[in-house]
Amino acid sequence: MVRLRVLGGGRRVGASALLVEGSKGRLLLDYGVDISGPEPLFPLHVRPAELSAVVLSHAHLDHSGAAPLLYVSVKPKLFATRVTLQLSELLIQDFMKLSKYYIPYEVEQVAEMLSSATIVEPGAVVEERGMVIRFWSAGHIPGSLMVEAEIDGVRLLYTGDFNTIDTRLLRGASLEPFREADVVVMEATYAAFDHPPREVVEKAFVSDVLEVVEGGGTVLVPTFAVGRAQEILAILTKHGVRHPVYIDGMARRVNAILLENLDSLRDPDLFKAAVRRAIHVNGWEDRRRALQEPSIIISPAAMLKGGAVVHYARELLENPRSAIFFVSYVMRDTPARTLLEEGVLELENLRKSVAARVEWYDFSSHCGRSELLKVIESLDPQARLVVVHSDEKVGAQFSEYVGKTFGIRTFYPADGEVIELP
Ligand SMILES: [Zn+2]
Ligand SMILES: [Zn+2]
Repeated sequence: MVRLRVLGGGRRVGASALLVEGSKGRLLLDYGVDISGPEPLFPLHVRPAELSAVVLSHAHLDHSGAAPLLYVSVKPKLFATRVTLQLSELLIQDFMKLSKYYIPYEVEQVAEMLSSATIVEPGAVVEERGMVIRFWSAGHIPGSLMVEAEIDGVRLLYTGDFNTIDTRLLRGASLEPFREADVVVMEATYAAFDHPPREVVEKAFVSDVLEVVEGGGTVLVPTFAVGRAQEILAILTKHGVRHPVYIDGMARRVNAILLENLDSLRDPDLFKAAVRRAIHVNGWEDRRRALQEPSIIISPAAMLKGGAVVHYARELLENPRSAIFFVSYVMRDTPARTLLEEGVLELENLRKSVAARVEWYDFSSHCGRSELLKVIESLDPQARLVVVHSDEKVGAQFSEYVGKTFGIRTFYPADGEVIELP
């Protein structure tokens, strides 16, 4: 009997953690933190001494941010790609620095975690206490993996966060491992929506950028430091945009990490060219210069919650020739959302109507509904589907729809629930 114990990410997005228990060992897939609210939330407890191994699917904090907690007294073996290790170190350190709340681990545990890691890349197969684990590229962010594990004769596939379409930065995830799986644990972030075709979004974005810059304005692109910032850089380069592109904040360090890991990208030459043409902002003098000429400024944080992006937004907001273009999912209760919905920039001691143009572009690093359904079509009719990593209503409707339409047995577990697979 194989048991799946949902420790986090059940019926919600955040703090993903799944414990897989077989007769010979226990495998922990992700151990993330939920930072969507004011206070960070951690997954349910697991005894690190009982773990045969831990796998980090990718570096995003909702999958990696609680993992150092496992390295307080013992050192469970960890598997991840080299990029994931480097990026999660960066993201976890940033999380520790910026959190206003107590975090139950220190830099020592982060170091222990990294030194316990075995680097794996897509295609690798490892055996750990009778469990055969195979890694597949997930197409979500650089270094992201899907994890296939054969335990007591059950073939399980954990998607982590995944995307099956090609983007400028990454190749889409393969459908191959889905065909043979007995159980698929699948994220369903966008199970209720379809994303427009990537080429259409890219074209609209580039043409709007050119319109603003050629009209003498500046385009501010608030974005996540990992993945989207680099994709935007690659898109501007691919489409031959010749205007100055500035890149600020943590995205610069992510660029440096990816330059050391070009194998993780779809088109290493395009990425190298994109980084070479970008102007890396190294202080206030550069920031001033960026705002003085028609240019494109790529800067974290995506939700306008802090960082250099706030400075740029304040400087641009009264200029109708300039623009703020969002390229990431915009969360509720953030300054970014207020700006998009009300045209008002609301910061700690400021509330101002914005004259600059504000737009949102649906670049996504997750499968949309059609992609998820295509994946499900490729499953064996006897396979079981466990839906995780989605808003409650979205996931519930989706798993019900899949059960009815495809006759596949589906589960929609909450945190703490256990699924037994005979
Ligand atoms: Zn992710
Ligand atoms: Zn996630």
